[in-house]
Amino acid sequence: MGSWIEKKCVERGLRMTDQRKVIAKVLSESDDHPDAEILYSRAAQVDPKISLATVYRTVRLFADAKIIDTHDFGDGRARYETADAEHHDHLIDIATGDVIEFVDEDIEALQHKIAEKLGYELVDHRLELYGRKKS
Ligand SMILES: [Zn+2]
Repeated sequence: MGSWIEKKCVERGLRMTDQRKVIAKVLSESDDHPDAEILYSRAAQVDPKISLATVYRTVRLFADAKIIDTHDFGDGRARYETADAEHHDHLIDIATGDVIEFVDEDIEALQHKIAEKLGYELVDHRLELYGRKKS
């Protein structure tokens, strides 16, 4: 059985090469929002013939198909995660680069209220908090 991403690709009619399958699997198994270079080093452990260029092309393909989400956590590197996760927001530790996922019902409700007040129905949102751990 293939990875979640592989299944989605097949559903959307994307041709799955062996290298794409490897990248799909590595991404499916990552829960730490890796960038392309980290994905590349993980994929290359499975198939040393995979190139960084192939990783870039493949994540773009998956992102265009809305199978993965792309994030910008402020350091100029695109980060990726599978689009199957429950909605959540991110807190980025500016000292370590760690990314902490959270959901806050008050924030969710407030965002709906703001959109409503402006005459909109909220369909999506993104929220990134940047913080330094208190000592
Ligand atoms: Zn996340």
